[in-house]
Amino acid sequence: MPEITAIAIDGPAGAGKSTIAKAAAKALGCIYVDTGAMYRAVGLHALRSGVGTKDPAALAGLLSGIKITLGYENGGQRIYLNGEDVSAEIRRPEMGMAASDVSAMPQVRAFLLDLQRDMAKRHSVVMDGRDIGTVVLPEARVKIFLTAAPEERARRRYEEHIAKGEAVSYNKILQDIRGRDAQDENRSTAPLRRAEDAVLLDTTGFELEKSVAAVLQIIRDSMQY
Ligand code: C5P
Repeated sequence: MPEITAIAIDGPAGAGKSTIAKAAAKALGCIYVDTGAMYRAVGLHALRSGVGTKDPAALAGLLSGIKITLGYENGGQRIYLNGEDVSAEIRRPEMGMAASDVSAMPQVRAFLLDLQRDMAKRHSVVMDGRDIGTVVLPEARVKIFLTAAPEERARRRYEEHIAKGEAVSYNKILQDIRGRDAQDENRSTAPLRRAEDAVLLDTTGFELEKSVAAVLQIIRDSMQY
């Protein structure tokens, strides 16, 4: 691989981006950057501060008191909010919508954009999110847009929570996924959409291994190595 390479993986909630991006980063010897975790950390900070996640003025006031840092352990990303490891807490089911709420704010996006670009300047990365191929890293070497039917994405999320022993409702997760898709696709700043030069991969009906293999193949074909 050339010295610094960026691979962008975008798509809606539950499309399998993080698992697939993590596997691709491992195979390629890159750092995996989960940008959704950064929005979740901002959402968590807002909830903890008692600030409405849809209140732009209050949120803007919070940003100067937020420091987000990333760390790596066994190939997995850890995320720290003002020094505290919040990697597990940001996965609570309600944190997805809190992240989606705060992510619609241009100031929040600008705040995280610097951090994301800085990571890609210093390391070869596989970065996943909603706007990596369109806004964060428009020059990425490879861009992939991963999607799957909402029912299947909800089923995958449901199974993840059940595997962790968490009591969740499939219908509630499906509703959350549909709500977040709509909110993420329709916001005015950096909406969720496929970059024109991104390869579209619909993983509906795919086992995880098949999705990982398909993504690695797209990367190999695009980089011709
Ligand atoms: O990927 P994840 O489900 O963790 O993302 C949580 C939320 O953060 C998304 O629903 C989306 O609103 C927001 N997000 C974003 N841009 C990114 C990554 C995530 O707006 N690059």
